[in-house]
Amino acid sequence: MSTSELPAMKSSPKFIFFTDFDGTITLQDSNDFMTDNIGYGQEKRKQGNKDTLTGAVTFRESFKGMMESVTRPYKECIQYLVDNIKLDPFFDEFLKYALANNIPVVVLTSGMEPIVEALLEALVGAENASKIQVVGNNVKAKDGRDMMNDEDGWELTFHDDSDFGHDKSLTLRPYAQLPEDKRPTMFYAGDGVSDLSAARETDLLFAKKGHDLVSYCVKEEIPFTLFETWESILGKVKEIVAGETTVKEAAEEGVKQFKAGNA
Ligand SMILES: [Mg+2]
Repeated sequence: MSTSELPAMKSSPKFIFFTDFDGTITLQDSNDFMTDNIGYGQEKRKQGNKDTLTGAVTFRESFKGMMESVTRPYKECIQYLVDNIKLDPFFDEFLKYALANNIPVVVLTSGMEPIVEALLEALVGAENASKIQVVGNNVKAKDGRDMMNDEDGWELTFHDDSDFGHDKSLTLRPYAQLPEDKRPTMFYAGDGVSDLSAARETDLLFAKKGHDLVSYCVKEEIPFTLFETWESILGKVKEIVAGETTVKEAAEEGVKQFKAGNA
């Protein structure tokens, strides 16, 4: 694929920041929140998570069941999440820095694009939200229904045929495979299992302290750097952009921190 076909390459950036959405940019996972409160409930959802981790079901199957249990009209689902989901307190500052420094921000999510876009708009404002590219799963109206207003009127649609529903590496790979002189440095931030496929394609992975992605990276020997909030991501990205440290040094530091018991 040439650079002209890749949306985030339009401004010929030296760096691109790819990121997960739920639990990474937001403090809560919006899909879990919806399932726990207006779907089949927390107990069943947690069992689904366990079954996914043991491999008894795929993420795709488990997530489909979660979304099928939510039957409120889609418009109400969006509003419910906009009223309840909170942003990491430093993401807005990070976003402003990234936009001012030609670092495109691309959200790769298992969530549905219309919900993620509505939440971003509510959280960072319409103008900056419109500058973030969102690649995720999607939603469609059930046959003959009005998706926005009808009870049981919508259903989840997947990004691709993978067991993840959205295999994030598919979006990243064309960037990773650009010729050396065009290929930007690729960052990624995430917290969960679905981020592992993305982790292998990027140059520096920020993994959220205390979450599944950290233990997966250790097990799979993928270098990473830890973050608790976007304040530490912003600090590290600034150092790298200024040439004070390299992505390689930053990744080695994360592994060291983990081994010292700080993760
Ligand atoms: Mg997440």
